[in-house]
Amino acid sequence: MPYNCGHENLMSGISILGLEGTAWNLSAAIVDEDDVVVENTATYKPPTGGIHPREAAQHHANHIAGVIRKTLEKRRGRINAVAFSMGPGLGPCLRTVATAARALALSLDAPLIGVNHCIAHIEVGIWKTPAHDPVALYVSGANSQVLSYRAGHYRVFGETLDIGIGNALDKFARSAGLSHPGGPKVEELAKHATQYIKLPYTVKGMDFSFSGLATAAHEASRKYPLPDVCHSFQETAFAMLVEVTERAVAHTGKSEVLLAGGVGANSRLREMLGVMCNDRGIGFYVPEKRFMGDNGAMIAYLGLLMYKSGYRTEIPDSKVNPDYRPDDAVVTWR
Ligand code: AMP
Ligand code: MG
Repeated sequence: MPYNCGHENLMSGISILGLEGTAWNLSAAIVDEDDVVVENTATYKPPTGGIHPREAAQHHANHIAGVIRKTLEKRRGRINAVAFSMGPGLGPCLRTVATAARALALSLDAPLIGVNHCIAHIEVGIWKTPAHDPVALYVSGANSQVLSYRAGHYRVFGETLDIGIGNALDKFARSAGLSHPGGPKVEELAKHATQYIKLPYTVKGMDFSFSGLATAAHEASRKYPLPDVCHSFQETAFAMLVEVTERAVAHTGKSEVLLAGGVGANSRLREMLGVMCNDRGIGFYVPEKRFMGDNGAMIAYLGLLMYKSGYRTEIPDSKVNPDYRPDDAVVTWR
């Protein structure tokens, strides 16, 4: 056996340390089979504009040693493996965190496990809610996908053809003078709307697109009150997401929907998905907020599932992939 798997863990269970840093949030966590033992984060906030990949990577480089040190202080016994996000994400950020993960794995004499960030969002949701085989709507800054597991892979049933819903909200919000991240500010303003303004609704087959919507919303914000445009943006974009999610449910015959990703914090999106699931008589699950946006616990947890299935990433195979698709990952743990 190339690695010291630590017999003490046969008694005390498995502990995995996970590192997340695909974009704005740098986070390290240790999970065991029961729960999250510890999590520490350092969040990059752009001084102006959106996320700048190299600045975010520099932020992660500045904080990663401290975040890991604080996390290790709370460890209980041996770390069985170090999991990290291999992608998708911003190249400079991924490389910074992967370098730290390799060094940490070597210094702890533990194997490395490279995980797919999108799948980690879904698996942590399955862990932390009663869902067990859902259709997942994964909506984050850079990604927007409808996925479900079938025969060894998470299949992508529908996805954005251009930018993620979070980036579309952030981009529109910035153009309206709101600071990053714009999603929560758009949600707040939308509560004060008095009318719906028609905006482009783009669903093509099972895919959707948001870039035209963000541009049209920007144009509309010159003519209409901002709360009305925020409301119309949300209603249009979320209806597109709910439509595709519903069709994936109908196609797969599954009886659960799981919401994942940072945009899942939005209460209007939850309400709309909840209505659809209720109408169809199926379960709708949303994990606690701390597991929705990017977090180290989800990386550690998927690492734990992969570790238990015997999966290991050798150092020469640990290169990051900014375009790592969830349907490219072989699911070894289900
Ligand atoms: P993630 O990439 O999964 O960490 O999610 C980050 C994205 O979630 C950013 O684009 C945020 O603007 C967005 N976001 C966070 N909270 C909300 C909210 N309440 N409504 C809409 N978008 C949100
Ligand atoms: Mg994410």
